Amino acid sequence: MPSDQPQSSDQPQPSDQSHNQPFGDLAILTSGGDSPGMNACIRALVRSGIYYGHRVWGVIRGYDGLIQDEFRPMDLRSVGNIIHRGGTILKSARSEEFRTAEGRRKAYENLIKRNITALVVVGGDGSFRGANVFAEEYPVSVMGLPGTIDNDLYGTDYTIGFDTATNTVVECIDKIRDTADAHNRLFFIEVMGRDAGYIALNGGIAAGCEEILIPETKTDLNALIEVLKKGRANHKSSGLIIVAEGDEEGGAYEIARKVAKQFNGYEMKVTILGHIQRGGSPSYFDRVLASRLGIAAIEGLRQGQSKVMAGIINNKIVYTPIYEAVKNSTQMDLDLYRISKILAI
Ligand code: ADP
Repeated sequence: MPSDQPQSSDQPQPSDQSHNQPFGDLAILTSGGDSPGMNACIRALVRSGIYYGHRVWGVIRGYDGLIQDEFRPMDLRSVGNIIHRGGTILKSARSEEFRTAEGRRKAYENLIKRNITALVVVGGDGSFRGANVFAEEYPVSVMGLPGTIDNDLYGTDYTIGFDTATNTVVECIDKIRDTADAHNRLFFIEVMGRDAGYIALNGGIAAGCEEILIPETKTDLNALIEVLKKGRANHKSSGLIIVAEGDEEGGAYEIARKVAKQFNGYEMKVTILGHIQRGGSPSYFDRVLASRLGIAAIEGLRQGQSKVMAGIINNKIVYTPIYEAVKNSTQMDLDLYRISKILAI
């Protein structure tokens, strides 16, 4: 029978015991939409937690597992060979029960019966809302880490997974470009981003798209059609238009339909990139980011930080109150958008 207790036999003695130690045992979970780099983050949390002398528990399937008592003891070997893997070994889930006071009471009881006094939540803004409610109700130190491909969290320049997802988008568009050019086609390519256009803007510039349609800017379809007509008149043989799924004119199918009503200079095709954007091996950037933030979470908790999200701003670790990370929206640097217009003439 596997023991329900964390294994301590291969845990090294921490070399730095100089910090205060306001928390003892620790649980970690991944919640909401998964993102590449979550495993690298789990690895960093487990290794640094053990390094500093804490017992570390993994919770399976996010808040649902917290309520259903799905805890696994994590030792150094449990996170071996995962730094390069997409997804999350702890699984992720959305939990309706955690939205109820009764669900959160069960979650707290499952922590307390194991003497767990700190919880690290790797997820997006929904997961942080839940973490904040929980930390207001119960005496648990809570730390959030930004794990989402959307890059839309206030309090960090980059979220874990954004870089990998954008690289995936660029790789796909490079392939679409070949066939677009071979057949004189106009492609509308939809990427993830219900509320934020970071993937579309950065991916669109990197892949050389003619137009970038994002929720942060007003989409003017008449102007778009004029640009297409001008391009056609100038013998432009093909075109690529990247659309964030949250654009106010609709998704890629809807926009292609509206454009086709007024302009038929090209054969038009639509590609929805969908969930391939979430998967795959994390980029070096996301692995390093996840590793830094995982360690920052443990070190922040040891310094008495709670109800905060650890992020990176100007390459420095910054702790932002979770309620601010959730309440404030990120301000996109629209200079990138201006640049994209110059590049596409
Ligand atoms: P993401 O973290 O990717 O934004 P969701 O928005 O689906 O994902 O949120 C993940 C989970 O966080 C939800 O399924 C729910 O369990 C929990 N959650 C979100 N908002 C709240 C809230 N206001 N109170 C309690 N739990 C919440």
